[in-house]
Amino acid sequence: MAWLDDSRQKEIHSIVEDVRIKTAFSYPEKNIVDLANDLGVSVFEEDFPLHPSVNAMLVYADEKNNNLPTIYLKKDLPDTRKRFTLAHELGHYLLHKKDGIKFRLDDFDYSDESNNSLEETEANYFAACILVPELELRKLLRFFEDDVNVIAEYFGVSKEVIQNRIAWLQTNQTN
Ligand SMILES: [Zn+2]
Repeated sequence: MAWLDDSRQKEIHSIVEDVRIKTAFSYPEKNIVDLANDLGVSVFEEDFPLHPSVNAMLVYADEKNNNLPTIYLKKDLPDTRKRFTLAHELGHYLLHKKDGIKFRLDDFDYSDESNNSLEETEANYFAACILVPELELRKLLRFFEDDVNVIAEYFGVSKEVIQNRIAWLQTNQTN
């Protein structure tokens, strides 16, 4: 997995804080679809029969036509995958807007360590920060120590997401 330097991590943290303030996001009362809607992003579930490896498609807003930004999620993803994928696409939406790019197809598998793209790492980092808030995670770690399964279930994410989040937190502490 690609690595993010301190300043980029801080930028992403401040974008995550902005999102929290804008959406009054408080886990777990508000679900991630509501959060996307509060950011002006519509969310739909789709099949991608022509592109079976695609998990999601992000359509950026087209200001000329007044199109709203939209995320299409693959219908048959397991719930934890769906939540993470939606948060990941929101990361691309907020972090990787580029002139002239209208949409992106995402077949990224976050459990695949061979994926070295910086943008994918950034979107994953954003998703983990949104879905697994640091303070909440630290509290749970005190209660459940390293019982990653219980913590993953609490946050509605996979075990790998929690393991990665803990690894990032531990790295930050040594800096
Ligand atoms: Zn991606």
